[in-house]
Amino acid sequence: MRYLIILGLIYFAYRTLKSWMLPGGPSKTKVSREPAGEIDDVMVKDPYCEVYFPKRNGVHLTIDGKDLYFCGTECRDKFIAARSKRDV
Ligand SMILES: [Zn+2]
Repeated sequence: MRYLIILGLIYFAYRTLKSWMLPGGPSKTKVSREPAGEIDDVMVKDPYCEVYFPKRNGVHLTIDGKDLYFCGTECRDKFIAARSKRDV
């Protein structure tokens, strides 16, 4: 019986505390940080330096009908250079 009273008191104190904290507390902790299911932000691998990065940040290149994404123009240019060197 005593436990129930203590539990009730704790619950009441918790509710009171919560109602105090809600209006004045800083409520900007987790508003815009969640990824909200953006499908285009997929990770792809740079075929040159083999680094994974978000596809939207990548440099796009189409070779032989294949879509390739590089972490930067430098890698893209090196990849093209290495490729053309190999082909010759
Ligand atoms: Zn790279």
